[in-house]
Amino acid sequence: EYLLAIESSCDETAAAVITRDMKILSNIVSSQTDLHEKFGGVVPEIASRAHLERILPVIDDALQKANLSLDQLTAIAVATEPGLVGSLLIGLTAAKTLAMVLDIPLVAVNHIEGHLFACQMQETNPIFPAIGLVVSGGHTNLYHCLPTFEFELIGATIDDAAGEAFDKVAKILGLPYPGGPSIEQTAVKGNPQAFPFPRTFLKDPELRFSFSGLKTAVLYAALGNPGAKKQPPPLTAERIADLAASFQETVVDVLVGKCQQALMQFRHSTLCVGGGVAANTLLRERLTEMTNKAGIHLSMAPPDLCTDNAAMAAIAWHHLDQGRIASLDLDVTPGLVR
Ligand code: ATP
Ligand code: MG
Ligand code: FE
Repeated sequence: EYLLAIESSCDETAAAVITRDMKILSNIVSSQTDLHEKFGGVVPEIASRAHLERILPVIDDALQKANLSLDQLTAIAVATEPGLVGSLLIGLTAAKTLAMVLDIPLVAVNHIEGHLFACQMQETNPIFPAIGLVVSGGHTNLYHCLPTFEFELIGATIDDAAGEAFDKVAKILGLPYPGGPSIEQTAVKGNPQAFPFPRTFLKDPELRFSFSGLKTAVLYAALGNPGAKKQPPPLTAERIADLAASFQETVVDVLVGKCQQALMQFRHSTLCVGGGVAANTLLRERLTEMTNKAGIHLSMAPPDLCTDNAAMAAIAWHHLDQGRIASLDLDVTPGLVR
């Protein structure tokens, strides 16, 4: 049995074919980074137009790589929330059309749940119940993940998401978009202790995050505080590397600390981490250290399943088992669900 999954929530046009036993037969991701780069962020109108141009070739590609024809498909899955409305609609319309023409079930998937499910995909045993962390461009959420594949939100950021902070800090430092990978590369040459940035809420008893103060702290350290008399030294390559390394160190400290707090609070012995920022090497190393010490099972998807992809929509197999089939008047839910 074969599931065709479609993802178009933000600026990746993606399609994948996944078998019922979770083998990924193909996983095509067409990223629009080049289109949005010069704006330093995703431009919604450009994103939806690009999805429209790319969606059919990407689906064709996914089927071809899986060596399948349309009539061999069992069901169609599509991410319908959260995301950009114009982007989500392109994937949904393609998915609906295929489901209707092929007369097979259509399944709606939550993109954020997909980021968590990516962790389960490469495991042989069920990983839930667990604490789940989604660190992405739009979200920094902690979840209580239930064996029924239901996800209870137990903590979130009160302002910027971690990935958003990476992107904004990269912009401040004059590093290319998207910020995550470029800060990670630049940080290798820097001193992570050079700037003692604030670890907001790290010692707070509540499960919450804030990255907007950190972003401002980096801005002032890099370019100066307009209210201060003394201005910082010029932004040399060395200083940029130190700022990038110190910023990354701070974000990783906070994320690891909050995961630890949630694990203790909920007495869970499994942690799963997904979303684009989970591709970060330092975060992966520190989470591995922390969970090894604490005797916690850490489940992290490989980096290419952390950033946006369609394969993670394979959570649709579970929805299908529960009879959660969508009707053809299915709509998108763009708003950020926190
Ligand atoms: P959401 O999933 O919240 O809807 P999104 O889909 O746009 O948002 P993802 O594609 O999951 O987000 O993740 C993209 C984010 O991950 C970007 O902010 C990017 O900078 C960040 N990112 C990607 N790679 C890395 C990395 N190696 N280190 C840190 N951050 C990274
Ligand atoms: Mg993206
Ligand atoms: Fe995402």
